[in-house]
Amino acid sequence: MSTHLNFSAHFSCINPDCRKEFDLDTVIYRCTSCGELLEVKHNTNELKKKSGKEWKELFDSRLGSVRFPNNSGIWNKKEWVLPSIADEDIVSSGEGNTHLFNASRWAKDLGLGSLHIKQCGISHTGSFKDLGMTVLVSQVNRMRRMGLPIRAVACASTGDTSAALASYAAKAGIPTLVFLPANKVSTAQLIQPVSNGAKVISLDTDFDGCMKVVQEVSKDPGIYLANSMNSLRIEGQKTIAIEILQQLSWEVPDWIVIPGGNLGNVSALGQGFELMEELGLIQKLPGIVLAQAQKANPLYESYLKNFEDFQPKEAQKTLASAIQIGNPVSVKKAIRILKKFNGIVEQASEEELADAASRGDQYGLYNDPHTGVALAAMLKLIEKKKILKGEKVVIISTANGLKFTEFKTAYHESEIPGIDSKLVNKIHKSSENMNSVFQLIQTLLT
Ligand SMILES: *Cc1c(COP(=O)(O)O)cnc(C)c1O
Ligand SMILES: [Zn+2]
Repeated sequence: MSTHLNFSAHFSCINPDCRKEFDLDTVIYRCTSCGELLEVKHNTNELKKKSGKEWKELFDSRLGSVRFPNNSGIWNKKEWVLPSIADEDIVSSGEGNTHLFNASRWAKDLGLGSLHIKQCGISHTGSFKDLGMTVLVSQVNRMRRMGLPIRAVACASTGDTSAALASYAAKAGIPTLVFLPANKVSTAQLIQPVSNGAKVISLDTDFDGCMKVVQEVSKDPGIYLANSMNSLRIEGQKTIAIEILQQLSWEVPDWIVIPGGNLGNVSALGQGFELMEELGLIQKLPGIVLAQAQKANPLYESYLKNFEDFQPKEAQKTLASAIQIGNPVSVKKAIRILKKFNGIVEQASEEELADAASRGDQYGLYNDPHTGVALAAMLKLIEKKKILKGEKVVIISTANGLKFTEFKTAYHESEIPGIDSKLVNKIHKSSENMNSVFQLIQTLLT
């Protein structure tokens, strides 16, 4: 017997004194009354008609499906994401369902109860940005089919957002504009939107400057803004919390460590846990650690003052280029989440993030510099006894290391300026003469 449940969702202003609501089928990013950001609110009374146990069973029953739409880690939780969209409007590339890497050997060396790395970079365009972009582009696809005059989608990016947007929009045949800060994204990240046919505009500024430009450009209602201030992205990204718990047999870890720039992803992570708690799937919340590069650390500075004040600043050049952001759009959402989740903000220097990435690689990972920031933060918090022996930790790895070959090569060649690479693995040269080879092996294995 199946009961028909009437799931629905709408945009709601995040300002507690306003809470104005808007239909999801409108082109809107900020509240028209007070100018604050919006969030997607679900009809939780309707969702509560299933028990926590029933939701867990339903989501678990869809795991491992090879068929659309349950072959996506987002759309197999469609009721919690965009319940009203028709399957034929969905633009999916099988995103999500990424591996939770069990770093058991490293956990043992660190004295942790367990250490898992959520490998978001093993996704269609190589970063977690796919999780939100499938939702945003699907909704745009729906609105275009309804006849709304949306000519193009547009974003500012530190590299991965534009790669994801260009790919999903190309799949659906939607024209795309991307604004990138000149010389601040990796070669792989730059060539992704170029290959997918997006109009790529390189601006002689930083990400915060690109963000200003794209907000001006998208005042034209025909140009749809795809940055994470658009809360449709957050809806997709929040499924990461649910997927991690499925992989941990619904056992809530003590800590989740996540690198942050514009701070949409940490907000999404928290919202995923909030919804699971509200609907009775879990009884406690994890602690959340937000990790920033020291060169781009406005939230760290605010954390030191108990979040009483937040000052945007100009971000300095960092190896963690995707989080080189000084004026994060989602800062209010992120602070609310961190206050609720026993939050800690930690920072990592360039040397700390590079060494931590390399340390992780020696346990079988292949870390990008942003994951390096999260790993460095974890190591520092273990040192400071804020993360305790025996505790269970999950690290969010945000992108695939293969996008950052320049970084990894320079590290192992000890050629990153200002950094003393401590965990270099040099390439050994030998002639093909067997005596030389045996002699070399002798020295390498002693
Ligand atoms: C976008 C991005 C981040 C930061 O996510 P925010 O939501 O902007 O905080 C971190 N790492 C990588 C690799 C990214 O692409
Ligand atoms: Zn408002």
